Amino acid sequence: MKVVRSPKTFQALMEKKRLEGKLIGFVPTMGALHEGHLSLVNTAKKENDFTAVSIFVNPLQFGPREDFKKYPRPLSQDAALLKSVKADCLFIPDAAGLYPDGFQTHIAVGTEGSFGLTKGLCAKFRPGHFEGVATVVAKLLNLAKAHRAYFGAKDFQQAAVIGRMVRDLDLDVKIRVCPIVREKDGLAMSSRNRYLTPDNRRRAVMISKTLFELKRAVEQGKSFNLALSAARKKLSRHSDKMDYLEVVDSGTLEPVRRPQGPMTAVAACFIGGTRLIDNVSIRAGGKLRK
Ligand code: AMP
Repeated sequence: MKVVRSPKTFQALMEKKRLEGKLIGFVPTMGALHEGHLSLVNTAKKENDFTAVSIFVNPLQFGPREDFKKYPRPLSQDAALLKSVKADCLFIPDAAGLYPDGFQTHIAVGTEGSFGLTKGLCAKFRPGHFEGVATVVAKLLNLAKAHRAYFGAKDFQQAAVIGRMVRDLDLDVKIRVCPIVREKDGLAMSSRNRYLTPDNRRRAVMISKTLFELKRAVEQGKSFNLALSAARKKLSRHSDKMDYLEVVDSGTLEPVRRPQGPMTAVAACFIGGTRLIDNVSIRAGGKLRK
């Protein structure tokens, strides 16, 4: 596995692979890798000739009171994991490399009234977060020159924002969104699960339990409003602070008032000091989906 730190060297390597006629897959991450990340790498490997993975804890997407400083950075462990799944290249830029002095160009997402994807859910609780994500992802995509880039459905709103950015700016890459990988008890894998004390880890399972219960109730045609308010009550009782629990239209991310079409139940809450997110897709009046 080739390890590259300089953005320009990475870009030159990827250009060379393109000229050699290789299909390129790219998996951007913030490291502290787990099976969820590795599933993206494995899918990228299956669908492409050359798979590059980036690890960069992007300061632009963290709020001032968030966990940028303490975000886990187990780099040598991550590199060993990527080697074990035979990633071809690991790109580990530093902040000075990606944001040199004088850096002042950002991607703006969701201007008033025209971009529902960034009005609600996490955008409301993490102002500036998706601008930070979109900016770094645009840069990484330009460096990676990949044919396909792989993202997890775990970050449901992020995947929607990136899909829209790629469409709106005509970026020449296919976005693949891969399923959520969960722990045996249902907790969505996340680098932030490392923060959980054993007691909080046990409590965290309530997030996925509540979302799956809500999915079942809606798919079985139970009262939507009752099911949603029961889910909200349950999650706020079992978490330390619930930011939101909503059922949204999977395409527009607008909250739905009555079950219709493809929907997603989404939630964000704190367990101890750790903010966790999860989501489960729902199809009303159709076949049950996993
Ligand atoms: P992160 O390192 O948290 O920025 O995540 C990097 C990529 O891995 C993002 O596209 C995430 O959506 C994806 N990812 C994180 N956790 C999971 C998971 N449990 N299952 C599938 N993909 C995931």
